[in-house]
Amino acid sequence: MSNRRVVIIGGGVIGLSAAEHLSRKGIRTVLLDKGSFAQEASWAGAGYVDLRDACRVGGAFMDLCRLSYDLYPEWTERLKKESGIDPEFLHSGGIGLAFQEGEEKAFREMEEKTAARGLKGEWFTGREARKWEPALSTEVKSAWFLPQTRQVRPPRLNRALLRVLQNRGVEFRENEEVQEILQEGGKASGVETSRGKIDADKVLLT
Ligand SMILES: Cc1cc2nc3c(=O)[nH]c(=O)nc-3n(C[C@H](O)[C@H](O)[C@H](O)COP(=O)(O)OP(=O)(O)OC[C@H]3O[C@@H](n4cnc5c(N)ncnc54)[C@H](O)[C@@H]3O)c2cc1C
Repeated sequence: MSNRRVVIIGGGVIGLSAAEHLSRKGIRTVLLDKGSFAQEASWAGAGYVDLRDACRVGGAFMDLCRLSYDLYPEWTERLKKESGIDPEFLHSGGIGLAFQEGEEKAFREMEEKTAARGLKGEWFTGREARKWEPALSTEVKSAWFLPQTRQVRPPRLNRALLRVLQNRGVEFRENEEVQEILQEGGKASGVETSRGKIDADKVLLT
């Protein structure tokens, strides 16, 4: 175990996964949240693991999203083994449903961006789509299938991460709000929280 200590502000999926990475490297980590862990956006997330928005933005954001996307299969498998909780990662593909012409137009515009980055989809009529999924509404006019789309179950992913971190002895501090990032010589040196001061070699704000 390294003597360095990292304080992570925020126990959503970003804070939890950063803590997972650091604790695997033997770095002492303190995870702080002003409420309970993984109850904000990381609880509400639908669980799409895909690159559509990344394609729209492009640049370094695209590179970062691609890296994250590529890590998912191995990472979720490791979490499943180590925690005994299955995050239900699935490479399912995803279907965009168009009920009106305007919606199909929006998907086709998005398709231009995804295709330019090598992500090719396929179009189906509503009738063809209902052959795959009979529960689809008869109002569906067309469907855009993107095979690269994957999914995960956010509440299960968060539970798996928390179990792994607990097993590794990461220090959890819930209901403790960070009020200030302390500095020394122009560098972050710790945090002031609703319960006092914590010294740190690095502070990660998530
Ligand atoms: C309805 C919905 C659907 C979504 N669907 C998808 C999807 O399908 N796919 C996808 O990739 N993304 C989706 N997202 C986005 C995704 O959920 C977020 O990008 C992700 O959860 C952000 O994680 P986070 O850890 O950065 O933030 P959060 O989960 O919000 O965690 C931040 C944490 O910081 C804590 N905090 C804040 N201030 C302080 C402080 N001063 N001191 C201590 N703690 C503090 C908060 O209490 C919170 O727990 C969706 C989001 C929403 C809302």
